[in-house]
Amino acid sequence: MTGSMSSPLEAHDALGDEIGVRLLVKRDDLLPFPLAGNKVRKITAELDSFESLPELLISNGAIGSNHCRTLAMMGAQRGARVHLVLHGEVDNNAQVALRLLKDLNASFTVVNPDGISQAIHEIKESALSLGNPVHVIAGGCHTAAGARAYRDAAADLMDECSPTAIVVASGTGATQGGIIAGVEGHKLDCDVIGISIARPAGRGAEPVREAARWAGTSENVDITFLDEYRDGGYGLHGSETDDAVKMGWAYGLPLDPVYTGKAFAGILDLIAQGRFNRESTVVLWHTGGLANYLFSNQENL
Ligand SMILES: *Cc1c(COP(=O)(O)O)cnc(C)c1O
Repeated sequence: MTGSMSSPLEAHDALGDEIGVRLLVKRDDLLPFPLAGNKVRKITAELDSFESLPELLISNGAIGSNHCRTLAMMGAQRGARVHLVLHGEVDNNAQVALRLLKDLNASFTVVNPDGISQAIHEIKESALSLGNPVHVIAGGCHTAAGARAYRDAAADLMDECSPTAIVVASGTGATQGGIIAGVEGHKLDCDVIGISIARPAGRGAEPVREAARWAGTSENVDITFLDEYRDGGYGLHGSETDDAVKMGWAYGLPLDPVYTGKAFAGILDLIAQGRFNRESTVVLWHTGGLANYLFSNQENL
């Protein structure tokens, strides 16, 4: 269970004193890869699971998604072509994300959400008809290899500290599911709290459970997936998220309004509810998101 990529585990005492917990931050935003965060662990594990890298990698996501950007960059480094099926409005912020994908030599199509599977199917079929090996990677890299990478990282973290809880921004679920598996292996009492950044709990908890099982947990493992901090939904944010983002930056902790700001807003609210206090050691598992901060409309921040 070792050999996972390492990232710093930092004590943020000043911010922790201000909010009323012992705050540790697992800095996956500082993994050695630009603008990527948790997708580095997941996509590296996924690509390493192939015996030989397929000539074409296909995946999908929102135009500004960290998954698509990271896959494009890793494909470029490793010599695989990447085609992305993207959705979302092509506004000014999206233009920056698209320019990056172009510079990375990825090809892409922008479609409506209901056309995603058809578009993936067509691109896959046309590459196969030319005899090119293709692999389709699930959106967000929601894969067993990705979940296992997070299991191994969480097992390492549990060797380093004994947290009361780990709080993580949760989307497609492999990050949280993997962390749950890594914590379960340690038999310490530590809650793994997923803060939904997009999906309502009714739809979002099941993929987390699925990923936890891929990474080896028991069937009925408890899943905590809180959907009350979505603040409008994926990519949207209001004052709760914005205030959390500003508080992080004011203490030298870079947060973003799409992912980590929501996780931190969740921590603030759980403290207000009395769920954590000064005796609690809370790990914010920082999943990245700097690009989302930089590319977001500054007026909204
Ligand atoms: C993708 C992403 C997440 C969510 O990870 P999942 O494994 O999809 O749940 C959280 N934070 C950031 C910054 C991300 O890019």
